[in-house]
Amino acid sequence: MIKDKVVIITGASSGIGEASAKLLASKGAKVVLGARRDRQLRQLVDEIQRDGGQAVYQVMDVVNPSDSAEIVNLAKERFGGIDVIFLNAGIMPNSPLSALKTDEWNQTVDINIKGVLNGIAAVLPTFISQKSGHVITTSSVAGLKAYPGGAVYGGTKWFVRDFMEVLRMESAQEGTKIRTATIYPAAINTELLNQITNQDMAEKMTELYEQYGISPDRVANVVAFAIDQPEDTNVNEFTIGPTTQP
Ligand code: NDP
Repeated sequence: MIKDKVVIITGASSGIGEASAKLLASKGAKVVLGARRDRQLRQLVDEIQRDGGQAVYQVMDVVNPSDSAEIVNLAKERFGGIDVIFLNAGIMPNSPLSALKTDEWNQTVDINIKGVLNGIAAVLPTFISQKSGHVITTSSVAGLKAYPGGAVYGGTKWFVRDFMEVLRMESAQEGTKIRTATIYPAAINTELLNQITNQDMAEKMTELYEQYGISPDRVANVVAFAIDQPEDTNVNEFTIGPTTQP
């Protein structure tokens, strides 16, 4: 059941996070939205509230552990607990390794890996005290299949896969039922390509997305499906992408 569940979503200011926030709120979830851009989050919360949904937001950078702690506190203060955290914030500044964009490598690791770890560190004590919880992450098909230009990004998304399985298994052993779902999207039309600074890579990816990309609403459907399952049922992994993408 989605209705009345409290769902934190990081990376909610655009793309997959925004689409998921709207869909879950329309199904009665209480959504707690985080990202760095204030205006986008405010507009989204306004829109959800206008449509009769329940939403709050906090400007946050997932790289800062204290920001993750704050959004968890906000959810508990406003809605009395946390049922689901959707750790979705991420960047994909793809480039060939020989371009040595080391600042982008570090930023990708910081946001895509440490951002997930910060979210888990912030929410886990609450899930342990509740004896239940649900963690959903957005990995990528880049976490399943290597491709030129995606070495660092793909590495961060491989990490998520392993991490999520261990989280579920360890929690069960320790007496806390934590459901974990890892989603592997292919080409989804969002703002993700905006951060690619390597011109050749940007052109190639734009061409691919223009040809095949599908709406982030499709990924939101998967997020909703995972949450909607009975508490004893875990949707571990979901690969989703355009039907015709090679
Ligand atoms: P968008 O660029 O539209 O969304 C990314 C979101 O992450 C934005 O809301 C952005 O908000 C947020 N974000 C980025 N950095 C930070 C940060 N440091 N702290 C907090 N929030 C941050 O792209 P998508 O919706 O596509 O991306 C969502 C996830 O989906 C990512 O993890 C991405 O890797 C993954 N993915 C996307 C695919 C695609 O084809 N689109 C395919 C496979 C995976 P703000 O800038 O306001 O902080």
